Amino acid sequence: MWSQSWNNIADLVQPFQNKQLMDVTDEMRRQGYTTKRMFETAEAFFYSLGFDNMTDLFWSKSMLERPEGRDVVCHASAWDMNEPRDFRIKMCTTVNHEDFITIHHEMGHIQYYMQYKDQPLVYRNGANPGFHEAVGDTIALSVQTPKHLKAIGLLNDVNEQDKDTDINFLMLMALDKIAFLPFGYLIDRWRWSVFRSSTSPEKYNENWWDLRCRLQGISPAVTRHSDDFDPAAKYHIVADVPYIRYFVSFVIQFQFYKAACDAAGNTEPLYKCDFYNNKVAGEKLRSMLQLGSSKPWPEAMEKITGQRRMDAGPLLEYFEPLMDYLKKQNGDDYGWEDKCPENPPPCVKGGSSRPELHSWICVLLPVFIALVGWLK
Ligand SMILES: [Zn+2]
Repeated sequence: MWSQSWNNIADLVQPFQNKQLMDVTDEMRRQGYTTKRMFETAEAFFYSLGFDNMTDLFWSKSMLERPEGRDVVCHASAWDMNEPRDFRIKMCTTVNHEDFITIHHEMGHIQYYMQYKDQPLVYRNGANPGFHEAVGDTIALSVQTPKHLKAIGLLNDVNEQDKDTDINFLMLMALDKIAFLPFGYLIDRWRWSVFRSSTSPEKYNENWWDLRCRLQGISPAVTRHSDDFDPAAKYHIVADVPYIRYFVSFVIQFQFYKAACDAAGNTEPLYKCDFYNNKVAGEKLRSMLQLGSSKPWPEAMEKITGQRRMDAGPLLEYFEPLMDYLKKQNGDDYGWEDKCPENPPPCVKGGSSRPELHSWICVLLPVFIALVGWLK
């Protein structure tokens, strides 16, 4: 509902409709996957790179499914209890593709905790918050390649040499990784403007939608008012979790991914690289994670990529075939208007967020006018 990931419209925008969609939800359900098996599959990938398995305490203390009979905060999270071997995930897992990827994300946090556990307490942290968010996603980029999904039996009959299938795959990835970028950027743009009082309380919702229209190219489905507060629908706003870390993560995870692929001797285009089982790639990642926050982040970056900057180059390299395809398809016809569209008139279906007003204005008022006209 935040338009932060667009993969639910994958079937509508898939470039080659007659070719396979790379979503493995149906296959997982057909094979009777359970939550436990999803976590074990993720664990096995990390283990193949030379990482440690989850601890006994992880399996006994984590909450991996929505509990019965009590309310919990279901937003997935990973916890370092700062006790030996006590690391936990809290998640209300559903058996589907999206949650399978989220599991890798959360387990990436756990692996980071485990790698820097011997650092002094003050350094048991990510090199910067974006690094912490990027670890599991880096692994998931490899997991999601058609080659890997096929290897673990979740994708059948996929032709890896087929260019159309590649474009379908990259579109699915872009609906997640590219569609997220403006969203990841605008959350804290909005919040920082609130903190420095350049957005006043009466403008909270209006400025929120200005950013949504301008940066994301989306507009509200129904009329919004100054007493609505849509930003509060986002967990990180109400839970006071900084957000720019995710924007950073979505850029640097491609840098980490490329570094791991290079270490694994990948010769294929970047988006095809699966470094499963490659201990050299694993060692490269671990050497960076073990630093925790004991060194400034550019040093951690250098450890894995050989240079010290945040760089969108690998992200662009990854999506290059899709970019070329879209440029051919769309020509110069792309983009959107900066401004939010005017509010729809109240009598348009869905045009008013106030049902009681809607019935007055749209139904009773015309009847009243007609009645007055008739009486005259
Ligand atoms: Zn996270």
